[in-house]
Amino acid sequence: MFEGLSFFEYNEMTEVRNLIPLLNWFPQTQDSFLKIAGPCSAESREQVLHTAEALAKSGEVAVFRAGVWKPRTRPNTFEGVGEEALEWLKEVKQKTGLPIAVEVATPEHVEKVLRNKIDVLWIGARTTGSPFAVSEISEALRGVDIPVLVKNPISPDLGLWIGTIERLNKVGVRKLAAVHRGFSPFEKTKYRNIPKWELAIELKSLLPELPLIIDPSHMAGCKEYLQELSQQALDLAYNGLMIETHCCPEKALSDAGQQLTPNDYVSLIKKLIFKHADTTNNALLSTLEQYRNQIDSIDSQLIELLAQRMEVVKNIGYHKQQEGMTVFQLNRWKNIIKTRLSEGAELGLSESFVKALLRLIHKESILLQKEENIMEGLE
Ligand code: PEP
Ligand code: MN
Repeated sequence: MFEGLSFFEYNEMTEVRNLIPLLNWFPQTQDSFLKIAGPCSAESREQVLHTAEALAKSGEVAVFRAGVWKPRTRPNTFEGVGEEALEWLKEVKQKTGLPIAVEVATPEHVEKVLRNKIDVLWIGARTTGSPFAVSEISEALRGVDIPVLVKNPISPDLGLWIGTIERLNKVGVRKLAAVHRGFSPFEKTKYRNIPKWELAIELKSLLPELPLIIDPSHMAGCKEYLQELSQQALDLAYNGLMIETHCCPEKALSDAGQQLTPNDYVSLIKKLIFKHADTTNNALLSTLEQYRNQIDSIDSQLIELLAQRMEVVKNIGYHKQQEGMTVFQLNRWKNIIKTRLSEGAELGLSESFVKALLRLIHKESILLQKEENIMEGLE
């Protein structure tokens, strides 16, 4: 439904109100960067306790996560131990003082986690993509003051992600955050789920007050890329992370390949370089200002040149139409790509960037040469 809508049109339609800043969610934590860790699934009392105690001791975790009901892609796999795990998680909370986060996918789950005083809920990727389920969950949460984390849907559909956040906000949920866990690829890729950072950045631009949390575990699908994905999120000013952590990852009943031991989790956190979006360094601010002025001037020249190019395109369109020629000419298009790519390469521009730019310009040019647009231009 939202496909093709521009940023500005969307912005006017987005209705998420009165969000409570992350810093006010848990009075006991003063860290504005939210660290969530814990196993993919709660498997036994010992497993959750061992994992949580090690994490709590490190002081590097604000919330302990554990899946109780697991949405598995295929049947005949471990689907979580269910309600029984809530008792273990209550014990974790009592022994470590850590707030507990659990995934909910139905109103019954909501009712059970609330009854067991779970502190944070999250909506899984498969549920975010299902508006009926989200509506039912939202109804079960009407008037309840509990933080809810919303994972991105498995398909790269910003509308579904925002829709879930809006549905929850509408029933009065004000402690909301988005969890970026990547998008399902059809073909095999380096990552289990493709990051598509641009989508999360678009979400942040539309809803600047909404905290954005990275889940590098489900994005990577393995341990190898967790560090680089987490750092990338920090560089993009994300507000927190959620990393799957298990006291004995090789024995995990779900997502064994991507879970870290508490020790490895702590070393990952210690290696991260935290950055800030602002500075009070006046010399640097004035240097940035100068560069930004240059960029502003270059951008306005770019826009002017593009407008000039489109005028020429319309003229060509008119002549082609008079002559009964087709708008699209393959050889000309091939030649444009070839020459511009080699010019771009000489100037250090990446091939993929120049290609994407040319495609966009070409698409607009074709559109402008359509008969009705030429007629309009002539009036
Ligand atoms: C999870 O966090 O364990 C989980 C099932 O994640 P997702 O919904 O992102 O697949
Ligand atoms: Mn998992």
